[in-house]
Amino acid sequence: MGLGTSSVLPRTEVIFSLFKLLFYDFRSLSIYSIIKKKSQCLCVIYLRVACTLINFIVKLLRIICSSNTALPFEPSKNLTKNPMVKLFDSHCHLQDSRIYNVAPKLIQEALDTGVTHFAVNGVSEKDWYVVKEMSDRHSSIIPNFGLHPWFISERTPDWLNTLKQFLTANPCAAVGEIGLDKGSMAKHIDYTDQVEVFRLQLQLAKEFKRPASVHCVSAFGDLLEILESTGPFPAGIVLHSYIGSAEMVPEFSKLNAYFSFSGHLMSMKESKAKQMLKSVPFERILLETDAPDARPKSVDPKSLFLINESDDVEDGLSLPAESLNHPANIHHILAYVSGLLEMEEEDLARMSYENAVRVFSYESSKLVQEGEERH
Ligand SMILES: [Zn+2]
Repeated sequence: MGLGTSSVLPRTEVIFSLFKLLFYDFRSLSIYSIIKKKSQCLCVIYLRVACTLINFIVKLLRIICSSNTALPFEPSKNLTKNPMVKLFDSHCHLQDSRIYNVAPKLIQEALDTGVTHFAVNGVSEKDWYVVKEMSDRHSSIIPNFGLHPWFISERTPDWLNTLKQFLTANPCAAVGEIGLDKGSMAKHIDYTDQVEVFRLQLQLAKEFKRPASVHCVSAFGDLLEILESTGPFPAGIVLHSYIGSAEMVPEFSKLNAYFSFSGHLMSMKESKAKQMLKSVPFERILLETDAPDARPKSVDPKSLFLINESDDVEDGLSLPAESLNHPANIHHILAYVSGLLEMEEEDLARMSYENAVRVFSYESSKLVQEGEERH
């Protein structure tokens, strides 16, 4: 039966009936129709109109409610209660003085969401002992010792020996963070010095058969040249927060480099990031947070794990505590990267986890020890 039959009613009455429907006076309207018109047929029409309207209102409400919470690249799970995936944070700085006081809390919160390990990278002689001490206290921390290009001007004449001692005394440690930086953050740092310090540390990584976590800003050509002349690297190179070109991916892959993605990826144009990601072999993808830096953008801030002002963060921060990155935000990196790769989050989590376990399973690493304890 079509809606055309409503022509038997005066126009004003139809409008009045619809108006009543909108105000959910559905029951009285039905009774009204039956009593007044004694027409079963009209009741059916009203019922249909009412159902359509209610359906429309429900759909509208759903759209309004969901638009506040579901952005395209957000993790879909209730992370804290039901960790569905295991993740490995391949590069972060939980020893950073800005978050050192709250690090045990952040580690526990991230562990609760399924993050099992954190490759914590030292950046200067001053913080190597902090990384070591945290690694001794937390089985989930993989210590990395290295001199970051931003801090080379503070190095002591004995820095290389000290680094060797740390790597010898801590066979579970990898090398990092080391690298090259031609960006604005390093414009006052002598580049020739950077190259020299970087080469020496790459040699050390080879000598100790440990992977090295590499920082590179606007110096990818030089990086490739140096890796080619220093390599091969059987223990692997972690190109941390990689935002280089797709074209260079095969060249770096030949040298046994892994590509580690963090919130910095969100600063790349999405189409360019997608093209680059699709050029990376699956067995070379890693995920990281670079926490407390690189807080993911392109994400609803309400859905991020935050470090609050009320937490015991270091006084005198140059930025508000809320702008610091939490290691549990690796779930947002997973969601973003899997979205661009058009693959399931679970599949990317599994692959990147296996890759990280491969990289960080050098002789005497904590992962090898964990494996031995299980057998
Ligand atoms: Zn870093």
